[in-house]
Amino acid sequence: MERRTSQPGGPSSALRTTEGLTLLPGITAATARRLAAVGVRDLEGLLWRLPFRYEDRRRPSSLGAARPGLAACFQARIAAIHPRRSYRGGVHLTEAIVQDDTGSLHAVWFNQPWLSKGLPAGTEVYLYGKVGLYSVRGGLRLQLENPEVEKVADGPDQALLADRIVPVYRREGDLHPRTLRRVFLKILLDPGVEVPEVLPTDVVREEALVARAEAFRNVHFPPAPTEGLPPSPSPQALRRLVFEELLRFQWALALVRRDRELQSGPAISPSHDAGELLRRVLPFRLTGAQRRVLREVFEDLASPRPMYRLLHGDVGSGKTVVAFLAMIFAAHRGLQAAYMAPTEVLARQQYLKLEAMLKGTDLRAAFLTSGVKGKGRRDILAEVAAGRIQLLVGTQSLFQEKVAYRALGLVVIDEQHRFGVLQRAQLVGKGRSPNVLVMTATPIPRSLALTLYGDLDLSVLDEMPPGRSPVVTVIRDEGARRKAEVFLRKEMDAGRQVFVVFPLVEESEVLDLQAATEAFARLSTGAFRGYPSALLHGRMKPEEKETVMAKVRSGEVRLLVATTVVEVGVDLPEASVMVVENSERFGLAQLHQLRGRVGRGGQKGYCVLMASPAASPESIERLRVLERTRDGFEIAEADLRLRGGGDLAGIRQWGGAGFRLADPVRDHDTLIRAREWAVRLSDPGRSWGTGERERYLEWLERSGVSPSGLAQIG
Ligand code: ADP
Ligand code: MG
Repeated sequence: MERRTSQPGGPSSALRTTEGLTLLPGITAATARRLAAVGVRDLEGLLWRLPFRYEDRRRPSSLGAARPGLAACFQARIAAIHPRRSYRGGVHLTEAIVQDDTGSLHAVWFNQPWLSKGLPAGTEVYLYGKVGLYSVRGGLRLQLENPEVEKVADGPDQALLADRIVPVYRREGDLHPRTLRRVFLKILLDPGVEVPEVLPTDVVREEALVARAEAFRNVHFPPAPTEGLPPSPSPQALRRLVFEELLRFQWALALVRRDRELQSGPAISPSHDAGELLRRVLPFRLTGAQRRVLREVFEDLASPRPMYRLLHGDVGSGKTVVAFLAMIFAAHRGLQAAYMAPTEVLARQQYLKLEAMLKGTDLRAAFLTSGVKGKGRRDILAEVAAGRIQLLVGTQSLFQEKVAYRALGLVVIDEQHRFGVLQRAQLVGKGRSPNVLVMTATPIPRSLALTLYGDLDLSVLDEMPPGRSPVVTVIRDEGARRKAEVFLRKEMDAGRQVFVVFPLVEESEVLDLQAATEAFARLSTGAFRGYPSALLHGRMKPEEKETVMAKVRSGEVRLLVATTVVEVGVDLPEASVMVVENSERFGLAQLHQLRGRVGRGGQKGYCVLMASPAASPESIERLRVLERTRDGFEIAEADLRLRGGGDLAGIRQWGGAGFRLADPVRDHDTLIRAREWAVRLSDPGRSWGTGERERYLEWLERSGVSPSGLAQIG
């Protein structure tokens, strides 16, 4: 693509989305490096680093106004601060007293030992957090728990931090949220800088979209809200960005569809000895549904048109063995096969299963994630390149990094919702046309399946393996906690495992981690004292997670407390009970997936949905759907019907297709319109304005839609 020169008048006043980061105002070489380290290479990538909340710092609350439950921003001075180890062990605490003219407050942070050094007494800070009531010897006191904290800086930074509505960005790598704030202030609020339009004029006009620059400005720096309301971007700004995301998505779908029509790959036809081998490695009798799906898969493999198949089946329906048989078959016929799991823990678990199946064959498998380093890694890469390792199990890094396959013939992607169509398009862009089998347990309303997975053929595993009785689901409130605990102890005494899950409650990972850490400490020293227990959370290093999981697998750990849904896929054969705390915060579909994790070892499974005291009657009514039915499609439809706008957990879950703002359920109409546009824009007969087509394609390419595919459209 030709490179346009900067426009006359105001040198480089109009930025292009491909502009190198260092050419942007306010970005130093060091900042550019930090951005690159978290995957931001250009303006396009940068703009989509959206804030996850806003703080109204025009009028920070005074400490004297602190009341339990109040979440607010305070400006105060650190009067005293000191680190200490909690008596519970394992948890590091930093305690501080903060003061302003109106009063003082305790603040406490968990597991951030560096804080006390960076914030010596006398430091002026902004604190954002929730005021809690904390019991200490001699009574109750008000306390800020794990507040986010930021120094009130001197000098030019001050303007970014005070006296305005500030966007709050996630901390990533070495990139401080404040750095992003400064950068965006320069790029979006500096009149000398222009964020150009990427969509063709007729799209903008017919969809009545606000200008791109305006949309991003509004989302990063929302205007002052009406008195009493929290700051938020305008619906028009959000709609514009949602439309962009969905258009890109539909374009990618169209691409993948077109690509597969044009591609051909190796046909892997069945043979007698392959059949023998598969029968030999099979650990059990397949269910009827598994046999049917396997036939569909083998038909795809036998055709020169690459397979693009979505395998849908509830948790526990036995997708894994179908995938493994297909992989072993491909490997036996001289091709390589890769299995991609959404997390390290899951990858490891699946790898062990595959290894077990391969005993007694001459096929070799390896485990590869970003955690496998050094000589071990080099050896694996060499063997894969030479074709001596035929089967690989790992995470996304199987494809992102420089893994050269000798003859990759089959890719299995586990848990679709973490691997969107954009990545699928990228895979296609690798130019090889491997067969792709995508597996998901996420229940999808049928109406949505088409719009979301329009590029894939569908297989459904609608039959459970024998010996699994349905999980008994009950809803309980605080009043029933004691009884539930007695039940859990009884299960553990009988040698079974118990799994307690905490949802993402707050927007902040730190707060979540705190909640889980506290809960873990409470449970392991309280109701379940003496039972071997462990905590698993998203911030642990892969090795740490693996250590925990190994203990769970060996049965050494009876009680596993896990945060969020990071590890939903974890297989715990001996787990008989799953307790979900604050369950009303989960989407139904997600809860349905979670409960499928228990009762796999032949014993009866129970799912206890704990409703928090704050749960509304409607949200509890919604949970009852899970007591009534086990049909994933029905549950998904109910989710769709019943979900209110405020159900963030549900929105995020659906958004898991890789969207930052769009929610295919909420934005279904926009999704349909985006699909119409994707078709119109890929019409070779369409007429474009000057430079429009190049700009549009360049934008798509920058957004990760494969360049090889782009060349084939239009
Ligand atoms: P999922 O669909 O959730 O990935 P898995 O493939 O992990 O389900 O299977 C769930 C459990 O059922 C595993 O322990 C697996 O070994 C077992 N399983 C799968 N298929 C069968 C079968 N046909 N007969 C008996 N057990 C099976
Ligand atoms: Mg699975």
